Amino acid sequence: MGEQRTARRVAVLGSTGSIGRSALEVIGVQGDLLTVAGLAAHSSWRRLADQAVATGARRVALADPEHESDLRSALDGSGVEVLTGPDGVTALATADDVDIVLSAIVGAAGLPVALAAAGAGKTLAIANKEPLVMAGPILLARGAEAGATILPVDSEHSALFQAMQAGRAEEVERVIITASGGPFYDWPAERAYHASVDEALAHPTWDMGTKITIDSATLMNKALEIVEARWLFGLPADCIEVLIHPESIVHAIVVFRDGSSVAQMSMPDMRTPIRYALTYPDRCAGASPRLDLGEVGRLRFIRPDVDRFPALGLGLRVAREAGLSGAVLNGANEAAVSLFLEGRIPFGRIVELVGEALDRYSPTADPTLDEIVAADGWAREEVLSLC
Ligand code: MG
Repeated sequence: MGEQRTARRVAVLGSTGSIGRSALEVIGVQGDLLTVAGLAAHSSWRRLADQAVATGARRVALADPEHESDLRSALDGSGVEVLTGPDGVTALATADDVDIVLSAIVGAAGLPVALAAAGAGKTLAIANKEPLVMAGPILLARGAEAGATILPVDSEHSALFQAMQAGRAEEVERVIITASGGPFYDWPAERAYHASVDEALAHPTWDMGTKITIDSATLMNKALEIVEARWLFGLPADCIEVLIHPESIVHAIVVFRDGSSVAQMSMPDMRTPIRYALTYPDRCAGASPRLDLGEVGRLRFIRPDVDRFPALGLGLRVAREAGLSGAVLNGANEAAVSLFLEGRIPFGRIVELVGEALDRYSPTADPTLDEIVAADGWAREEVLSLC
């Protein structure tokens, strides 16, 4: 009570996307506790400039330098420092005046800066699951060496992290992460196979960016989350379970060895896990909608049909195989999602292509970062040649 503390200075990477905008809302509300040190975006320069002025950010970084001059003129006279390119994003994240890096970059593009932030000993609040899937052991080792704290922002992993505090790590028997099931979980398989881009982008419960919404429809998002949980919490693959939970209220459950199951529940609103990661270990008042179970009335849990959702099998396989399989899973998926969005393959082909790439790669134990980056490139090429 009444404790004096300095505000934590946050660099928000991917600030113009869905998670980034929610993060700025959270930081704005928590003004005495959190401030914006820097903002990075891929290419939305206009919104980035507006955000910099609104938040009082000291510097911004634009990963795609094409609109550097537009951004510079938009910020002319504002005193905001402008950096560009992937190196600019890394410089922004690792600057001395940054305490917390919230990474909400989309896809494998977030790997170099996640490694740099962890290596610089920052608190890394990670919403960008792909670097963990590709290079979880390397990212965690870098962070551990530098004394960095890595905190989950993904709602299921935030839920696991919260529920795990009810016991000790060695008392955890298994964990369950939930999946909304996406828009197609009760569609006939043949109809889902040929679903359109618009149908795949209509997510029933979460309002998210394009890539993750497609991943939610294929359940590849859950596959990535299985691997993410495997590394973040050091869990063997067979201790990780998925249940379809269409209401998206229970985000994860930790089953302890005494038979107690501890669940974390909240309305599906990303501001809740974002706030927890940014203010951890405190719980700060916020504007997220409150859960009213009397209003919700009924929570459903359905064991997923792995034949119907083969992505889940691929996620468990990668959690078991480790090595380069995470990079292949992720690279193949990113390439296949792009092909689907370009109208070049049917929806159902996305997961098939990822499975075919995984059947063709050469396993390597304890790969180096260079081998991981090469496997990512190989998987993307392989998907293009397979389609
Ligand atoms: Mg999630």
